[in-house]
Amino acid sequence: MSFKPLDTLATRLQALDAQGLRRQRRSTETACDVRMAVDGRTLLTFNSNDYLGLASHPQVIEALKEGVSLYGAGSGASHLISGHSRAHDRLEEGLAASLSPHVPSAKALFFSSGYMANLGVLTALAAAAPNDTVFFSDRLNHASLIDGIRLTREPCHVYAHADVGDLSRQLAACSTDTKVVVTDGVFSMDGDIAPLPDLLRVCEEHGAWLLVDDAHGFGVLGETGAGILQHFNLHSPQLIYVGTLGKAAGVAGAFVAAHEQVMEWLLQRARPYIYTTAAPAALAHALLTSVRIMRSDEGRRRRAHLQSLVQQLSTAPVPAAWQRLASTTPIQPLVLGSNEQVLQASAALQAQGIWISAIRAPTVPVNTARLRITLSANHTSEDVHHLVQALARAAQA
Ligand code: PMP
Repeated sequence: MSFKPLDTLATRLQALDAQGLRRQRRSTETACDVRMAVDGRTLLTFNSNDYLGLASHPQVIEALKEGVSLYGAGSGASHLISGHSRAHDRLEEGLAASLSPHVPSAKALFFSSGYMANLGVLTALAAAAPNDTVFFSDRLNHASLIDGIRLTREPCHVYAHADVGDLSRQLAACSTDTKVVVTDGVFSMDGDIAPLPDLLRVCEEHGAWLLVDDAHGFGVLGETGAGILQHFNLHSPQLIYVGTLGKAAGVAGAFVAAHEQVMEWLLQRARPYIYTTAAPAALAHALLTSVRIMRSDEGRRRRAHLQSLVQQLSTAPVPAAWQRLASTTPIQPLVLGSNEQVLQASAALQAQGIWISAIRAPTVPVNTARLRITLSANHTSEDVHHLVQALARAAQA
C-alpha cells in the first residue's frame, strides 16, 4: 500500500541529491581535536569551533569526571523544580562577573545550548510587551536567532548586513515601545565582527535593546576572552549578551547575561529554560575549569597563538578562483560558489588527509557555497602551512 507522504519525502530527498544539497554525517572515532579519526583514517581538521582547544584539555576532562562523581550523571528535573545545583550557580556567578564591566547589575543564566538560549531570550522579551515589540535583525544572523524571532510572531525588519545606516533608518521609522536589535557578534559563516559600537550608539539613540549573540567571540575576543563587549570596551544597560559554551569553552551549553531585571524576567518566562531538564551539573562543574583557563595566562597564550595562526592563514596565498572573505577571527571562509565546486574541493582536500566540510545553502545564501576553515589554538603553524599547500592542490584537482 502506498502512503503518499512517504513518497513526497522520497521525492524531496532526491531533489536534494540532484542539487548537491543532501547532507551527511560522519562518525568520528576520537575526541574533538585538530586531528581526528574518521572511517579508520586520521585527518587534520579545520571544522570545529573549539577555538582554544579546550574540548580535549586534560584539566577540563578531569573536571568533567570530578563533576560526575560529585553530582551524578543527570540533573533529573528542570531548574525550577529540583535540577538546579550549586555548580550551576557558581558558573552563572562567574559568567556574570566577567560581563559586569559591560552590563550594569549583570546576572547570567545557563542554558543547555545556544539555540535554546536564543529562543528563550527572544521569546521572553516579546512576552514582556506582546503586540508591542519589533525586532531588527542583521541579514546574516544565525538560524537560531531567526527561528527565535519567528517564534515570537512579532514583526521583524531585516537590515542589510552590518549596515548601521540601514538599521538607523528602520529604527527611526518605528514608533513601537519595545525595539530589539539582534546581531551575531562574530558572524558564524563569514567570520567578520559586527560593528557593535555603532550599533549600540543607534540603539541608545532610539531606545532599543541590543541583543548580541557572541557564540564565536566568547573566549576568543577581548583581553581575558570575555568576548566582543570586552573587545570594544562597551558598557550599557541596553546590552543583552549571549555566549555559548560548546565552542571556545569546549564543553556544551550557553548563557545569557544582562541587567538583573532582564534575567529575573527570563527565569519567569523563557520557556526553553523552564520546560526542559537542566543540563547535568557535571557540565557546569567542567565549565568552571574551562572558564578559569580561558581567563588565565594559559588562555592568553592560547589566544595569542590562535591569532598568529589567523594572521598566517589570512595573509597566505589562496587559489585565485576562490574568494577569501575578509576576517580577523579564527573563522576564515573561502567562497567557491556552487555546491558542486565546494563538494569537489572538500573531497580533494580529504584525499590529502584534510577534513573541511562543504557549507551550502540554506546555511549560507545560494551560490555562496564555501569552505568554512576554522582555526584552533591546538593547530600548529606547520598545520596551517600544510593546509595552504593542500588548498592550492585542491583547486587544481
Ligand atoms: N549562535 C551562533 C551564532 C552559532 O553559530 C551557533 C552554533 N552554530 C549557535 C548560536 C547555537 O549554539 P549551540 O551550538 O550551543 O546550540
